[in-house]
Amino acid sequence: MTAETAPLVPRMKDQGYEPDQVAQRRQWLEEITGAKLHHVGACSVDPREMRGNIENPIGAAQIPIGVAGPLLVRGQHAQGTFYVPLATTEGALVRSYERGMALLTRAGGVQVRVYGDENRVAPVFAFDDVVSAYEFARWLPSQWEAIRAEAGSTTRHGRLEKIETYPAGRDVMVNFRFFTADAHGMNMIVKAADKACKWIMANSRARHYLVFSGLESEKHASGFLFPGGKGKKVVAGARIPAHLCKAYLRAAPEDFTALWRHTVTGHVHAGAQGYNGHFANGLTAMFIACGQDVANVVNSAMGITGFETTGDGELYASVTLPALTVATVGGGTGLGTGRECLETMGCAGQGRAGKLAEIFAAAVLAGELSMGAAIMSGEFVSAHESYGRNRPKEAVENRGFGDERQRKDGAE
Ligand code: NAP
Repeated sequence: MTAETAPLVPRMKDQGYEPDQVAQRRQWLEEITGAKLHHVGACSVDPREMRGNIENPIGAAQIPIGVAGPLLVRGQHAQGTFYVPLATTEGALVRSYERGMALLTRAGGVQVRVYGDENRVAPVFAFDDVVSAYEFARWLPSQWEAIRAEAGSTTRHGRLEKIETYPAGRDVMVNFRFFTADAHGMNMIVKAADKACKWIMANSRARHYLVFSGLESEKHASGFLFPGGKGKKVVAGARIPAHLCKAYLRAAPEDFTALWRHTVTGHVHAGAQGYNGHFANGLTAMFIACGQDVANVVNSAMGITGFETTGDGELYASVTLPALTVATVGGGTGLGTGRECLETMGCAGQGRAGKLAEIFAAAVLAGELSMGAAIMSGEFVSAHESYGRNRPKEAVENRGFGDERQRKDGAE
């Protein structure tokens, strides 16, 4: 097969979501690649339900799901004890989160608050010169009512809350901030903002516009996410008595402050955005399990972990997540496993997005404590050796040989 002769994926009637069309497409792929797609095809979700979530379906990826808990959450939306589903192939991850959750629960639970709740998109408008751009930026706020009405005309649940202008040369970026209720909202707000942009084009001297400028930091890590937020801005914290710290983490509260100091230096050295141990690990696993858009881990995993000792010798641990984009409606939240996992936490459907954000933030805190303790105690490597290795057979054989040779070399 050459670049010229490689066939395109077959097109099918109505885009091909019927079970026999999906099987036919899978069989076509098996024939041209020689791969057997038994597991890919063993999917219990009706492919007709996948329309809007995937094109050219051939089945589904199966990622193992584990459960960690109990996790006592004391939020405004989430109150009670939860068991959190995590989809991952990283051994030791579920066990690690489980340890942190059990500790936090025995310590009295995790306080969580949602500070901000919005998603944003930032179109860019182009002008002939700097003066035209400047005049546009001065004029735009006076048109707020008309712009809000245009944006509001395409959605029932979305609500434009604010617009902000950011000049760059003869361009002006306009940051549209929307409340998106229980949806992640990118489809919703891009459509709404685009409608408003068309009105702006008809009523201003802008030459043209692009609906994305990059300022929105959708699926990007950026410094703007810390002050600017995206999705839910969530903070979780807990006070942990020294004896529980010792019992569950084999560390004293002051060990955590020492760890914090040493590793903050490393983050600064690396020029990292934010400071955290591994927000991305737990978030990715919860996102996959719960039908979230996994690519949003890039912005959601931006954040700051804090470890302090209190005046009475306890550990105060916190996490701040300025850009947690989660949903309980829309996207992949209604599909098979995602929907079921949301249901285990009472988070499926309308009015549940704040609850899900609070549970996720509390779970992230559990992961930070457990990861920090594992690094300090030297258990990090041994835990992964016990739970997290799955070497291909060949690699194991080579490793055995290598180890033996090393010992011989040492003896010599
Ligand atoms: P969606 O599945 O496209 O739409 C969800 C819709 O559900 C909303 O627009 C809303 O309709 C309706 N809805 C019903 N009950 C609701 C409630 N309680 N709260 C909020 N909405 C409710 O999902 P989306 O959240 O807008 O978009 C998420 C998807 O966009 C993700 O899968 C992501 O991958 C994708 N995405 C799109 C872009 C883009 O540029 N378009 C960029 C990045 C990601 P109304 O609007 O009529 O209220």
